[in-house]
Amino acid sequence: MSAFDTFAVVDWSARSGPSRKRPSQDAIWLGISRQGQLAEPLYFWTRAKAEEHLACMVKEEAAAGRRMLLTFDFPFGYPLGFAKALTGEDDPFAVWDWIAERIEDKQDTERSNNRFEVAEEMNRKFSGLGPFWGKSHEDRWPDLPYRKAGISYDTIPEKRECDKVARTASSCFQLFYNPTVGSQVLMGLPMLNRLRTLPGVAVWPFEEHDAANVVLAEIWPGLIEDAIREDTGGVIRDALQVTRLALALSRLDPARLEHLLKDLPYQAREEAWILGAGATKDLTELARGEISVVIPARPNQRVAGNNEPLAPPPLRDDCFALPAGVDWTPVDDALAMLQDRLHPVVATQTLPLDRALGRTLAADVTAKRANPPHANTAVDGYGFAHASLTEGDQTLPLTPGRAAAGKAFEGAVPHGHAIRILTGAALPQGVDTVILQEDVTASDTAIAFHPGIKPGANTRKAGEDVSAGDTILSKGRKLTPTDLALLSATGNTDLTVHAPLRVAVLSTGDELVEPGASAAPGQIFDANRPMLLGLTERFGFTPIDLGRVPDNRETLRATLDRGAAKADVILTSGGASSGDEDHVSALLNETGAMSQWRIAVKPGRPLALGLWKGTPVFGLPGNPVAALVCTLVFARPAMGLLSGQGWHRPQSFTLPAAFSKSKKPGRREYLRARVTDGQAEVFKSEGSGRISGLSWAEGLVELPDHAVTISPGDPVSYIPFASFL
Ligand code: AMP
Ligand code: MG
Repeated sequence: MSAFDTFAVVDWSARSGPSRKRPSQDAIWLGISRQGQLAEPLYFWTRAKAEEHLACMVKEEAAAGRRMLLTFDFPFGYPLGFAKALTGEDDPFAVWDWIAERIEDKQDTERSNNRFEVAEEMNRKFSGLGPFWGKSHEDRWPDLPYRKAGISYDTIPEKRECDKVARTASSCFQLFYNPTVGSQVLMGLPMLNRLRTLPGVAVWPFEEHDAANVVLAEIWPGLIEDAIREDTGGVIRDALQVTRLALALSRLDPARLEHLLKDLPYQAREEAWILGAGATKDLTELARGEISVVIPARPNQRVAGNNEPLAPPPLRDDCFALPAGVDWTPVDDALAMLQDRLHPVVATQTLPLDRALGRTLAADVTAKRANPPHANTAVDGYGFAHASLTEGDQTLPLTPGRAAAGKAFEGAVPHGHAIRILTGAALPQGVDTVILQEDVTASDTAIAFHPGIKPGANTRKAGEDVSAGDTILSKGRKLTPTDLALLSATGNTDLTVHAPLRVAVLSTGDELVEPGASAAPGQIFDANRPMLLGLTERFGFTPIDLGRVPDNRETLRATLDRGAAKADVILTSGGASSGDEDHVSALLNETGAMSQWRIAVKPGRPLALGLWKGTPVFGLPGNPVAALVCTLVFARPAMGLLSGQGWHRPQSFTLPAAFSKSKKPGRREYLRARVTDGQAEVFKSEGSGRISGLSWAEGLVELPDHAVTISPGDPVSYIPFASFL
């Protein structure tokens, strides 16, 4: 027995408290395809409700004589060796029992569970730090590390074999910060352990399942991510994922499914396996296409009509969560975290070619037509068939008429004849070679020339540049004037692009006054705001000026509200540290969706990153030099990702230094610089309030995290400001 009648996909959740009663993201969703029919996705606001429903379904499907494949989006096992170390047995079910005995889930009553305590107990079975890490409070659960640093994973691997094959981003040992797969396992295995005791249920791949009526299996929505990304406009992403996964599974050829269920490496016996790992391409294809059922819209989300821009899903509340506090995060780690957690937030729309300059492609573009579309001549001259030439000097009679660009010669040129042909003209039938007019003597009726011309000379083949159907530009490309040439030549007139990223800018500080206004003693003119608005425009985004805000929490709150309502990103400067007047960090902290990122960079004090009403906020330092460096190094790549451009590192160049400097280890350092006579020169002062140096500079010299001593002539890395655009 192999075929299934019902395919179900569960998106599990490890939330401490219940989800909203109204369908929402990050709760539990169930997608079902039953006998070839998709069902509307079902929503559960607690784990208990979901389990109750699943247990019913197990019975009902059996009663109706339907065989069901019931899949879940969290790991069914831990890496090889874990079971033995925890329970003394190799049996994965021993782990299930062990965890199920200890987990207390009080989601409904106390909005809590004891998963961190249970993880601590597991950690105590292993020597050294870990393997479990990540928690909500740094100062609680001492046997559970707050961060991963220092955990060796040399006795127990961090990831399972199937995680490597499927390239999942997560480890089942990570309990907090996205992705929180580890917590889903702890809050999911007890439920599976109960379901598996129901009659007719078998767990794949641990148990023989041929005779089972219900097979429980692990799946991973990331397998079909490409299909999901295409249409998340306005709908709840989790609901779409479970529906499309159920669809893909139901469409799998039964023999292929059988193969996926049976052909497994030895690790699967203990680690479990992701059904479909390694079959990403096929599943993604099967997940595509029209679906008849309605996927619920995101709350507060307008569902776009046909011609309206489609909005992608919002960022997750905890996208900036960071194990903060103790260590300084290296620049590369901070960048890796931004890259990992952000995704495009701007809508897509279709624009005609002549309005698309500078916009970012939201989809790959293929050539509608080859370039050149037809074989043609590269010169003015005479065309003929090379095979019709004879030995020695040639005389060919001329066929009446001519071929010119846009005015094709309709007839055929007889064998042994030539025809007058002009640059760009399609080669007439019977012509494969063109001789330059300068190389012939011509009368009204014939041409004569010396031997030696090669077959195909002076012609361009159809499609020699681009074939029809070739991908000519990839999604994420910011369209240049030359791209417009390529798009036009290949017949592309309507382009799917992202709406421009709207970037709101505000300055904070009681000391700031508007340039031109009268400045009292102690007051300074606002320098950051014009700079940040200008940078935003140069990046190709849409600047929105939110003005200056005094060091007053209520005014700042109202201004952030305005920003969140009309922008996709907010850049603030000043007030980002943790002093009395640092209201940006204080307010972002209040929302709970903020982290003080202590990044090991100079210049730059803590960068405050957070979400304000769902809109990411970059709380930049007030010092103009630090504000510029943090914008270029951190905010620019992050905004690139948010705007659909993907993740880019600025192009740097290695140049000989025109300066001496010795630097201590620990922080990456950026110096204001420019190129003189092929050498990188740096500004005479490193003072971070020296605005004249910002204007003097044309780029930055980047010095590594470790200690260096630089003498004139030594190679250094120089990043021109243009590389950040
Ligand atoms: P803060 O981060 O608010 O403590 O500010 C650090 C330093 O940067 C102080 O000297 C501020 O006066 C200065 N500063 C803050 N915002 C601006 C601005 N928009 N333009 C010029 N200087 C600023
Ligand atoms: Mg200030």
